[in-house]
Amino acid sequence: MIDSFDPAELLRPDLRELVPYEAPVHPGAVKLDANENPYDLPATVREEIASLLRDDPFNRYPDPLAIELRQELAAYTGLPAECIMAGNGADELIQNLMLAFGGGGRVVIATPTFSMYRIHAVIAGAMPVSAPRRTDFSLDPEVVIAAAGHPATRLVFLCSPNNPTGNVTPPAEAAAILANTRALVVVDEAYLEFGGESCLPLLEGYPNLVMLRTMSKAFGLAGLRVGYLLGSPAVVRQLLRIKQPFNLNRFSQLAARAALAHRAEFEALIRRIRENRQALYDGLNAVPGVTAFPSEANFILFRTPLPAGDVYHGLLAGGVLIRNMHGPGLQNCLRVTVGREDENRLFLEKLKLILGG
Ligand SMILES: *Cc1c(COP(=O)(O)O)cnc(C)c1O
Repeated sequence: MIDSFDPAELLRPDLRELVPYEAPVHPGAVKLDANENPYDLPATVREEIASLLRDDPFNRYPDPLAIELRQELAAYTGLPAECIMAGNGADELIQNLMLAFGGGGRVVIATPTFSMYRIHAVIAGAMPVSAPRRTDFSLDPEVVIAAAGHPATRLVFLCSPNNPTGNVTPPAEAAAILANTRALVVVDEAYLEFGGESCLPLLEGYPNLVMLRTMSKAFGLAGLRVGYLLGSPAVVRQLLRIKQPFNLNRFSQLAARAALAHRAEFEALIRRIRENRQALYDGLNAVPGVTAFPSEANFILFRTPLPAGDVYHGLLAGGVLIRNMHGPGLQNCLRVTVGREDENRLFLEKLKLILGG
């Protein structure tokens, strides 16, 4: 018997600031908070998954290299399979990048952006360094290059289209950064299918580039956790040293293969989301006092004249869940995912009630 035991005393001191990730659960609310695809999988994809499932040997470990999935991804991206690494969501690949390259060094992050870069940097024992975007959220390559100039910089994180601001970094600006740093530059293209130009053509000239992609957004597989990384074979080989051997389970590999084999059927859904985005953007800007920021992704950032917390809770009381992004550089900003037509209408209706439009 021991009297007391406080594991917090054993925790690495640099992890004490981290708080467990929480996703709010509000059953019944219209869910526009996580940039998920609002449409169900095409029926043919569901059928294909079901038929692949029927004789998949679940008693066997999954393919650690996800060879068949990477072949499908090669066909989709036009890159050879050796340039592709599959992960348990792009989140796992962010963590792998930080663990392999970031730990003990500096990681430059163009902010405001996706919060997981900072969190995984801290977990890996790297120092996150912010390179602030301009007030219109565009990237300032000079600021990024200057921040990356510190000799301890190992990684630079850009997100395009950027979550939560929705704007794109033109490949020419990414190229300017790539040409002026010895760090590995990560361009997170999780939302690429919804708009913007990929940095992929830069890979030939810049082996210090990697791109992150995911099946969670355009392909509607958020529940299955499938992401992938595109980079030079040399970068992929370094990352394989630290990859969990069986990181991507059999079911997810099989479902992602089925979705990619039927990728043409997602095109109509993606087109519809882009049309709904335009309608939602126009609707938001028509609400008195609201400024919506242009977006190439499946979400829209907007600023309200009321405190963001009041708007968030008002919407939730009206049955609509979105994301409060209020914070540095994002004063009174909220992010709404582009949902189905009926969901977007309900959201705009409730927002107008709150803001007295
Ligand atoms: C959603 C998102 C991801 C995470 O994708 P998963 O594959 O679901 O882990 C990565 N980057 C950005 C910017 C995202 O918004």
